[in-house]
Amino acid sequence: MPGGGVARAAGPAAGGAVEPGWRRSGGLLVDERLERLGVLHGATTRALGDMADPARRSTLFDGLGLKGETGLVLKQVHGDAIVRWPSEWDGSGTEKVRADGWMAGAPSRPLCVYTADCVPLLLWGPRFGGVFHVGWRGAAAGFAKKAAESLCRAFGAKASELCASIGPHIGPCCYRVGPEVSSLFRRESLAMGGQVPGGAGGSPLTGGGVAADRLDLGREVASQLVEAGLERGSVAVCGECTCCREDLFFSYRRDKTRDSMMAFLTL
Ligand SMILES: [Zn+2]
Repeated sequence: MPGGGVARAAGPAAGGAVEPGWRRSGGLLVDERLERLGVLHGATTRALGDMADPARRSTLFDGLGLKGETGLVLKQVHGDAIVRWPSEWDGSGTEKVRADGWMAGAPSRPLCVYTADCVPLLLWGPRFGGVFHVGWRGAAAGFAKKAAESLCRAFGAKASELCASIGPHIGPCCYRVGPEVSSLFRRESLAMGGQVPGGAGGSPLTGGGVAADRLDLGREVASQLVEAGLERGSVAVCGECTCCREDLFFSYRRDKTRDSMMAFLTL
């Protein structure tokens, strides 16, 4: 499946420039801008299996020319802690650090986060970058904005120098949330009312075509990045829904399994 069909930009790119975006490359989705920079990165699809398995990660990185590499993984806790590699943690030891984001200057080993509906967020600037796991709890706590601000502070950069890629995540088509969650978000990040697809069997609040709040996590993350100072045209959003695209992705909400995809960035 060559070419696009997977990507859409968050907004119109300025000056007639080509819109940034994700595209399929084998079992991975990749961002064309990082490809052009020669930065090894990607978001895995279900074709590569559950990436929590170190053997699968090893196979992936072997195939990318990183022999013996298994990638650096965190104990993700839906919080807002970010680890700077290698000064704060080099990934060694048996106890993983509890955090939901990595950042590093070049060169680095592959910095990885797991997702299965949450947003995998890649952020980068000149010779530095990071990868972050943003679910609704993180988004409600402003984690995407914090990630951009942390990178700028750590590497002495301006937010306008950063680029962002919001990887595959659950779309508003499938992400119904209750009022205890929707009340934490701005109006623009919610799809209100309207018909809910596949509503049969849902709760009285959300099912059967009744009006519901649906959360657009990708849009929320993009808004936070723009608030942090990124140019709208520098933020790419993968438009594929992990819940709709059973052929491509694991989805916690759809499958109730712990199988995970992985996004990684190797500076
Ligand atoms: Zn969907």
